[in-house]
Amino acid sequence: MPTTSEQWFARARAVTPGGVNSPVRAFAAVGGTPRFMESGAGAWLTDVDGRSYVDLVCSWGPMLLGHAHPEVLAEVGAAIARGTSFGTPTTTEVELAEEIVRRTPIDRVRLVSSGTEATMSAIRLARGFTGRDVVVKFAGCYHGHVDSLLAQAGSGLATLGVSSTPGVPASSAAQTIVLPYNDRAAVEAAFAEHGDAIACLITEASPGNMGVVPPEPGFNAFLAETCTRHGALFISDEVMTGFRVSARGQWGVDGAVEGWVPDLMTFGKVMGGGFPAAAFGGRTDVMAMLSPEGPVYQAGTLSGNPIATAAGLATLRLADDAVYARVDEVAATISAAAAEALTRAGAPYRLQSNGNMFSIFFGDAVAGSAVRDYVGAQAQDSEAFKAFFHAMLDAGVYLPPSAFESWFVSAAHDDRAVQQVLDALPVAAAAAAAV
Ligand code: PMP
Repeated sequence: MPTTSEQWFARARAVTPGGVNSPVRAFAAVGGTPRFMESGAGAWLTDVDGRSYVDLVCSWGPMLLGHAHPEVLAEVGAAIARGTSFGTPTTTEVELAEEIVRRTPIDRVRLVSSGTEATMSAIRLARGFTGRDVVVKFAGCYHGHVDSLLAQAGSGLATLGVSSTPGVPASSAAQTIVLPYNDRAAVEAAFAEHGDAIACLITEASPGNMGVVPPEPGFNAFLAETCTRHGALFISDEVMTGFRVSARGQWGVDGAVEGWVPDLMTFGKVMGGGFPAAAFGGRTDVMAMLSPEGPVYQAGTLSGNPIATAAGLATLRLADDAVYARVDEVAATISAAAAEALTRAGAPYRLQSNGNMFSIFFGDAVAGSAVRDYVGAQAQDSEAFKAFFHAMLDAGVYLPPSAFESWFVSAAHDDRAVQQVLDALPVAAAAAAAV
């Protein structure tokens, strides 16, 4: 007798490639049937089979306050009652933009609907502003499915990228230089050779898309300084970290302390409160190049949508110090317990965290020292993760279904939810050790 999730997955595959609308949801890396979720409340998700899970994905980051937060729902409900989209300016857009500008070092912001749109637009703007074409990115950093940003790593110092997906023109990939993360010498070499042609360097402010691989101390400051020296723009992608690792994102953790400012920043996830809202912004003179003020075109029918901006604004306003303190505490408790369970079970691992974002790399190859780049992350044992993932799922804990992802928690993860995770860990750790 197939489960209801299995039945829905079969229907989904008949009408949608792979049965999903974003690939990582398909459980391709871990095997098995993706769970079709019916509802979420606080820290919990309930699937169509009626099973409940403690959610450690949180919609891949946005749900900082947990699912169906009553005050966010009230703001969304009120916004819906006023009408859902007008294609005109609305007041909530201004308020959300003000909230973002207030928390970050950027002067001007443009709202869009996805992180991909934000990075795509930021790259176009950087190219328009500098009159240069080449983009530098790091292997293992994900910035959405923008053609020029899907180029993957080659070996050596500054390898001109080869696209990792069919459908990206070679000419587009050829404008991208892919470097190893945390590698200052590689950055120096790329700028020494191509400095005059480089429009921008884009980096995740603290990578979470190869597992959690934080910048080594001073690395972001070094990137900002290198870009400035060569007349290129420094784009800090905070789609994942923005308003999550702190009220001021990753920049609040390093830039604000070290005294540097990115030329452009991108945001998404938390600032949309679970709705499609994202943003890019930066220096006044750079942003002034943007249409209708300047010649670089960018637009969107649903940009600054009143429902999405109401949800985002409510989320940011509710995210006070107590919220961040709770999210940090939950992350610390769960990550420490996971580490302890794996140690006890004799499963080799490496735990890495950046504030309340964390992930575990499995296997002997990664256990000894820091994972500092994509090559290091790829050395992990995905079979051990798979066994761990399914044991957790069976015990009612929903982890990211891939070893190359951060785990996310929310302020709604109360003691009962945390306890369910802690109770699941020993068996899952034993499963990982048995691989
Ligand atoms: N940048 C980063 C750092 C991300 O983590 C993501 C999505 N995970 C994106 C950009 C793309 O955002 P979206 O999926 O909303 O297009």
